[in-house]
Amino acid sequence: MALAAAAERVAAEFEYPKEDVIRGVEHFIKQMDEGLSKQGATLSQIPTYVTAVPNGTEKGLYMAVDLGGTNFRVCSIQLHGNSTFSLTQSKVKIPQELMVAKTSHELFAFLAKQIELFLKTHHGEHYTSHVERRKSYIGGGVQNTEVFQLGFTFSFPVQQSGINKGTLIRWTKGFDIHETIGKDVCALLQKELDALNLPVRVAALVNDTVGTLMARSYTSPGKTGTLLGAIFGTGTNGAYVEKLERVTKLQKMGKDAGDVDSSTGEMIVNTEWGSFDNEMKVLPDTPYDNALDKESNNPGIQMFEKRVSGMFLGEILRRALVTLIKDPAVPLFSDEHSNQNDMHSTTNIHDNSNLYKQWGLDTSFLSITSGDNSGGLKITRQTLDSEYGVSAASAEDAEAVRLIASAVGKRAARLSAVAIAAIIIATGKLDRPTDIATTNNATLEVNEDDVVDVGVDGSLVEFYPNFEEYIREALREVPQIGVQGERKIRIGIAKDGSGVGAALIALVADKAT
Ligand code: ADP
Repeated sequence: MALAAAAERVAAEFEYPKEDVIRGVEHFIKQMDEGLSKQGATLSQIPTYVTAVPNGTEKGLYMAVDLGGTNFRVCSIQLHGNSTFSLTQSKVKIPQELMVAKTSHELFAFLAKQIELFLKTHHGEHYTSHVERRKSYIGGGVQNTEVFQLGFTFSFPVQQSGINKGTLIRWTKGFDIHETIGKDVCALLQKELDALNLPVRVAALVNDTVGTLMARSYTSPGKTGTLLGAIFGTGTNGAYVEKLERVTKLQKMGKDAGDVDSSTGEMIVNTEWGSFDNEMKVLPDTPYDNALDKESNNPGIQMFEKRVSGMFLGEILRRALVTLIKDPAVPLFSDEHSNQNDMHSTTNIHDNSNLYKQWGLDTSFLSITSGDNSGGLKITRQTLDSEYGVSAASAEDAEAVRLIASAVGKRAARLSAVAIAAIIIATGKLDRPTDIATTNNATLEVNEDDVVDVGVDGSLVEFYPNFEEYIREALREVPQIGVQGERKIRIGIAKDGSGVGAALIALVADKAT
């Protein structure tokens, strides 16, 4: 009994009640506004220079490349114009020596070479006709009709100053080429493509969250266009459609703001919401969150992400479990057959268990245990044994683990709802005339024109049981949304933001120029 009570006590520490959700939404809206008006705010609200979302009728053949971490992905995307597309892709591991090369040239020439190889393999006809045409073309330059427009997903911190212009702020994820810092990465790639005479133009620099928004807007069944693209994977982030006039910092940036296409009156803004409330004014905090942050390599930073995303949830659970394991009054994973006087033989945990290692518990375990319907939580117990060195965990042990894991997962979903709710409210997307007609009738069908579409991606939202339902529950608790508003919000998985999403950005960039 002591174990169940202790687990309930810990689970209760992760409760994130309605009042806190409401307070969180208010603060999020405030930080959104600050980010739109000045540089260096907590919520970065980065202007992306993408000024339109697709509606599914777009057509054509585009290219996309993705330099994210270990791999370089090259794809071509045929948009069929009916919300569907076909994708051809290749993937290659980046050689270690190029990640730390002396000059940008070595890395970017390698990338261009992969693009050439891809064209030769998958678009031989196109490639050959290009070469032939170039031989006979007098006066230089390739004709526009045969040039592939390419979206470049580059998942490193950049200062963007145009749809296909952005300078590298710093490398992360094991890359370290000093010479690249401060240079325009699109121009670097274009230079190497030109050196190979490839019929490819780097049309857009793409953030993966923006790609998610574009991919969803193209494939979603609605006709209103997608408002928000959100990622709940290793990290968390969101990009949404904002009124251009509200991005007031663009004017303050003067000529640094670069070229802005104002024809649609809108611009997609990359919130970088992982850093929401780094000041810890409204975010929930437990001793486990606190210790995780202090022992992380960036204390005080990405405080929202540290409570929401896949990289961190497993570690939060691990710390909560270790606290219970170390508490002599709590019989978690205790070995009934051991000598109670010998501290080292009172648990069923191997000394080198991953439970004792920082980052040793993967967030996928939260999904496994929260969704475990097997008798006596057999699946949880088996996983504890095979992955975490806990032999002979009892059903009570597994029940305690599941209770805490579910509390950590549910809090993450409710926090996600704070970001989603704030963006829906701040953009006024629920304030449409038909709302007045429907507010008094809970049984009315949602009018297709009133749908607010949200595209999501990432293993957490895809695989954590009931993640969307927990988000919805919290959305209903926000007064400006309520039961009526929540029914108008459509949430759908948007896969492949760095493929089709990047291609779509290349398309809108091409149309805008
Ligand atoms: P990325 O965000 O890196 O593109 P993913 O969307 O697959 O890739 O997210 C990876 C993160 O999701 C990791 O932190 C991992 O621990 C977590 N994860 C993987 N599988 C699951 C799962 N079944 N349930 C919850 N989280 C998961």
